Amino acid sequence: MKYCVLIIDGAAGWPLPERGGRTCLELADTPHLDAMVSEGTLGLARTVPAGMEPSSACACMSVLGYDPRVYYKGRAGIEARSMGIPVNEGEVVFRCNLVAVRDGKMWDYSAGHISTDEAGELVVALNQSLGGDEVCFYPGVGYRHICKLKGHEEALPAVCTPPHDIPNKPIADYLPRGSGSDILRDLVAHSEAVLKDHPVNAARISRGEIPATTIWLFWGTGRVPDMPAFQSVYGLRAAMTSGVDLLRGLAMMADVDVLDITGVTDGPDNNYGAQAEGALESLKEHDLVVIHIEAPDEAAHAGSIGDKIDTIQRIDAEVIRRFRTWQEEDLRVLIMPDHPTPIKTRTHNEEPVPFLLWGPGFAGHGAKRFTEAEAKKTGLFLEEGYTIMGKLTDETGEFELGDVIKGINAKLIHRHPHIFGTRQARDAEEVIANWEALKEEEREEGASMLGGVPGEMPALGYSLEIQKRVARVGFDWVDVDGVIEKLAEEVGEFKQAGSQERREQEFGDLLFTLVNVARRLGVDSEAALRGANRRFYQRFTCMEELCLQRGLRFGDLSFEEQNVLWEEAKALVQ
Ligand SMILES: [Zn+2]
Repeated sequence: MKYCVLIIDGAAGWPLPERGGRTCLELADTPHLDAMVSEGTLGLARTVPAGMEPSSACACMSVLGYDPRVYYKGRAGIEARSMGIPVNEGEVVFRCNLVAVRDGKMWDYSAGHISTDEAGELVVALNQSLGGDEVCFYPGVGYRHICKLKGHEEALPAVCTPPHDIPNKPIADYLPRGSGSDILRDLVAHSEAVLKDHPVNAARISRGEIPATTIWLFWGTGRVPDMPAFQSVYGLRAAMTSGVDLLRGLAMMADVDVLDITGVTDGPDNNYGAQAEGALESLKEHDLVVIHIEAPDEAAHAGSIGDKIDTIQRIDAEVIRRFRTWQEEDLRVLIMPDHPTPIKTRTHNEEPVPFLLWGPGFAGHGAKRFTEAEAKKTGLFLEEGYTIMGKLTDETGEFELGDVIKGINAKLIHRHPHIFGTRQARDAEEVIANWEALKEEEREEGASMLGGVPGEMPALGYSLEIQKRVARVGFDWVDVDGVIEKLAEEVGEFKQAGSQERREQEFGDLLFTLVNVARRLGVDSEAALRGANRRFYQRFTCMEELCLQRGLRFGDLSFEEQNVLWEEAKALVQ
C-alpha cells in the first residue's frame, strides 16, 4: 500500500452571501473530488487545538500526525530549524521581518519584497551594529529573517503583532508590549538608525522602490522538543512537496524528505501537474507523500472568490484526477485543508475542516461532495485531528463508533472551555463526569435527554447513543440475559408479522435490540457490521477470481455450484 496526503491550504471557508450562501468548495466544479467522496469516508477534524494559533504550521502538524500541543511552540522555531539554526536551552528565536514604516505607520510588511541579496547585506549591517553575545541575526529568504536572543527567555511572553496584520496602522500601537518586551522594542528602535542611510536602501529609493526602514520582531519561540521521525512513529518512509519554506521546515523536523520539483510555488503560477507527477513518482522510493498546495490560501488572503474557486478546480483537474488513474500500486489518499481561510475575514481560523479518506478499506457513506456542510452532516468528527494519520495508515482503516461519539463530546467541550479548560489533558472519567454535568446544565427545563443526539448519525450509532443515555438514568436490563431474551421475543414477533409495514417495524425493533445486545457485550455494532461486509466482499471477489481462472461465468453456475465455490472461497479468505 502507498499513501498520499493532499493539503489544500485554506480551501475551507464560510458561506458567501454574495454567491447564494455557498462556500468556495461548494461553488467549485470538482468532478474528480466528488467521485472520490462518494467512494470514500468524509468527516470533520479539528486540526488547531483549542487556544492555539491557527497557523498553517500548527494545523499542518496535525495533518502530519503530530500533536501540536506537544510539538508546536511557534513559527519562528520551525523556520530556525529549517534554516539550520540551533536553538539551545536558554535561547529564544523571533521572526525578524525587514519592513517599511512611513509617517509612523506600517507601510509594507515586506519592504517592497526586498531581494534576498539586498536583505543579506542589511542583516550583516544589523549584526555589526546590534549583534553580540546575546543577539544574533540570521539571514533568510527575501524580507524574512531570524533573530536569536541568548539569555533572554523573559522576552517570550511579550505580546507581538505580525506586520502583515497591521497594514497602514500606527506602529506605536503594535510594538512588542508587556512582560519581557523591552529588549524587543530596543532592537526595533535601534535598527532604524542602522538601516536609514544604508547604501542598499539608498539604491532602492533611487530606483523608486520601497526601502527597509526597520526590523519587526514577532512569533517568538523557545526551545522546541525534538519531533520523533515520521518513520519511527508510522513505520513509513515519507516525502513532502511544498512551495512554502515553513512547510519544508516542518518536514525536516519530522525527518520527512523534502522533494525538489521544478515549477512548485506558493502562488497561482504553481505547476499543479508537475507537482502531482513528481509526488507520485516519489512513491517509488517512499511509502507516503505529502502534497501541500498553498494557492487557495493565498487567494483567500487576497479576498478573491474567483481565484479561490479557480485554484480548487485546477487542483481537482490536475492533481486529484491523477489519484484515481494511478495504477502502480494500491493507493490510499487523505485530502483536507489545514485550516479554513474565509473570504470575509481574509485570514485563518481554528474551525474544524473537512477531510476525505479514500482507497482500499474506506467505504462511501452517502456523502456526495467535499464541502464543509456535508462533512459536518456525516457526524464523523475527529476532535484530536492529529489522529487522522493513524486512520490513514492503519491497514484496518476503520472508524469506530467512538469517533462519532467523541464528536458529540467535543461540541460540548468547545462550548464550555471554562469548565473543561482548553490545553490541559484530562482523563476520560473526568470528561464524562463533566459531560453529564454539562448536559444537565445545557438542557432546557422540560427538554428531552435524547434531544441532543444528532439525527444525522449513522442509524446504528444513533441507537447506541440513545440506549446509553437512557441506561444512565437506570432504564436498562439488569444483565445481558434480559436483552438476549428480548431478542428472542423480537425474532418471534418478526416471524409473526403479517403485513409488509408490520415486517418493517419488527425488523427495525430487531436491529435496535441487536445494538442493545452489542452495547451490553462491549461490541461495536457499526464496526462489526462493516467487518461482516468486508468479509463477504473479499469472499465474493475471491469467487469471481476463481471463476476467471477456470474460464467460468459465475452467473451461469447453479445455486449448488455457487455454494460449493462459496465454501472454497471461505477457506481461502479468512
Ligand atoms: Zn495563510
